[in-house]
Amino acid sequence: QPVIVAIDGPSGTGKSSTSKAVAAQLGLSYLDTGAQYRAITWWMVNNGIDIEDPTAIAAVAGKPEIISGTDPAHPTITVDGTDVAGPIRSQEVTSKVSAVSAVPEVRTRITELQRSLAASVEKGIVVEGRDIGTTVLPDADLKIFLTASPEARAARRNGELKGADVHATREALIKRDAADSSRKTSPLAKADDAVEVDTTELTLAQVIECVVTLVEE
Ligand code: C5P
Repeated sequence: QPVIVAIDGPSGTGKSSTSKAVAAQLGLSYLDTGAQYRAITWWMVNNGIDIEDPTAIAAVAGKPEIISGTDPAHPTITVDGTDVAGPIRSQEVTSKVSAVSAVPEVRTRITELQRSLAASVEKGIVVEGRDIGTTVLPDADLKIFLTASPEARAARRNGELKGADVHATREALIKRDAADSSRKTSPLAKADDAVEVDTTELTLAQVIECVVTLVEE
């Protein structure tokens, strides 16, 4: 029986770095579900779909073929065969992804991809996102919910986006989390049976160790 680890939480809590490292250490696959939502958003933008129009988004939600590579040492993402790992991190995609992710047809489509990937692994998988423990994989063996203060999250994001304005980053993060937490379909939420880890005062190595220990228990 493959081991399924769900890691949820808002952005800037160290979700991606933690999930990748835990998967690598334990020899498991890794899935970044945010990258899938970013990829479908990139496709919508690229195809001139009006992001303000949920009906227009819903009508084409099934069109792009999104493929995720699940090796934690080298995660990949393609849309219709094009490598979009770079473009999905653009500010434009980041500012539009919450609106696209809120469309139920988009979530159904992406959730199906996630479940079929999780069902196909041999040893196990670490899946990171916002609704993995609550909606996508409610029977996961271990559910982690990562949190951190808004200041710590903005500072970490700024470290990644060298030279960005800390204040603007903080505002954008708070806005995106509010949108993700308030949408009607599977919002960002902690599952009742998730272990909450506040990473504000922890180093990345400490968070990784904490999660690895929980998986091994
Ligand atoms: O994790 P990341 O910041 O790349 O996620 C980008 C966006 O994708 C989130 O802000 C959210 O709108 C959406 N998302 C989601 N459900 C997930 C993962 C990400 O709605 N499981």
